[in-house]
Amino acid sequence: MNNQELMRRWREALADNYGTPRIPLVRGEGARLWDADGKEYLDFTGGIAVTSLGTGHPAVVRAVSEQIATLGHVSNLFAAEPPVSLAERLLELAGRPGRVYFSNSGAEAVEAAFKIGRLTGRSHMVATRGGFHGRTMGALALTGQPAKQEGFQPLPGDVSHVPYGDAEALRAVVTENTALVILEPVQGENGVVVPPEGYLAAAREITRATGTLLVLDEVQTGVGRTGHWFAGQAQGVEADVITLAKGLGAGLPIGATLAFGEAARLLTPGRHGSTFGGNPVACAAALAVLDTIAAEDLLQRVKDSGERLREGIWRLGHPLVDLVRGSGLLLGIVLTEPRAQQVQQAAQDAGFLVNAVAPHVVRLAPPLIVGDAEVDALLSALPAALDAADPSAADR
Ligand code: PMP
Repeated sequence: MNNQELMRRWREALADNYGTPRIPLVRGEGARLWDADGKEYLDFTGGIAVTSLGTGHPAVVRAVSEQIATLGHVSNLFAAEPPVSLAERLLELAGRPGRVYFSNSGAEAVEAAFKIGRLTGRSHMVATRGGFHGRTMGALALTGQPAKQEGFQPLPGDVSHVPYGDAEALRAVVTENTALVILEPVQGENGVVVPPEGYLAAAREITRATGTLLVLDEVQTGVGRTGHWFAGQAQGVEADVITLAKGLGAGLPIGATLAFGEAARLLTPGRHGSTFGGNPVACAAALAVLDTIAAEDLLQRVKDSGERLREGIWRLGHPLVDLVRGSGLLLGIVLTEPRAQQVQQAAQDAGFLVNAVAPHVVRLAPPLIVGDAEVDALLSALPAALDAADPSAADR
């Protein structure tokens, strides 16, 4: 089976959600991936911030294999040990008592937060322009990207979208009828947009004053991605609800909604549920991820690799690079021209997977285990990829 043949079958059998050309991948090892033609790539997308430990990490392989052989599924009629251990660990990392609701994706983790919001008895919700929270109907109502909402109105809720990073805009719309404010600590899908310092703390202060729940959507930023267990916590902000998914399961589908205080009390029995939520195999994978991040001191490694990448790209001094922004190993190369797609293609041709997340922004979110040599390999290949993407390069 080669690339062409696999993609022909893909187009005939799958409801393609993006419609863009893609490479069919067949296997991986660490931060390396191979396509069906046998071409090797260094993966700086991390499965979009999912494959936190790369492919085939022994701790994940062992945990998943042992768990599926021991107990692969437990229905809501019973309880099992892996979700208990995982919930305990997540609350321990958050540093506060609370309750964890497990699901299977980021959108579902947000959907649970949406339902907690409704249970407050208040109707109004506040989210941010450009924010991304998923594609199910509740999550989509909170997503601040009109193009993604088009065709799906009416969406549930009474949602105000305010400019991201603007605390005063938030203050102007949050009232005592506001159930929740949902924010990403860094807007990932919107192009790795970092808010001004103090924004999350201001959101906490504003929501506390009106008794509104603060939901931090850490689906992309959580579980080590920014060099911290949780990006909000690193800024001293204690949210009422934290949503997680992506990197938590190292590739297995899992979402988690961490609820604290009054938010935890609202999720009473019978209010919400999911057949696969808390699946023992997914939870075992997530426990292996948390253990490995701690055992291999990956939070420090993420900070170091992130700095190496950021500084390295900046030092290239390439005219197509306007700035590099982000946190830890969630970085956006902001271009002076809308050429991200061309950079992605040129990098791919050279054997590096990067992601054109916006017309002007190339996102880097490699596995947390990415090594210095791999970072340096990308830094060596980037100038040629940027040149190839920059139509005016030849003139300079
Ligand atoms: N929230 C954020 C911040 C995300 O980045 C994403 C996915 N890009 C989601 C929610 C939705 O996650 P999923 O695709 O797993 O439903």
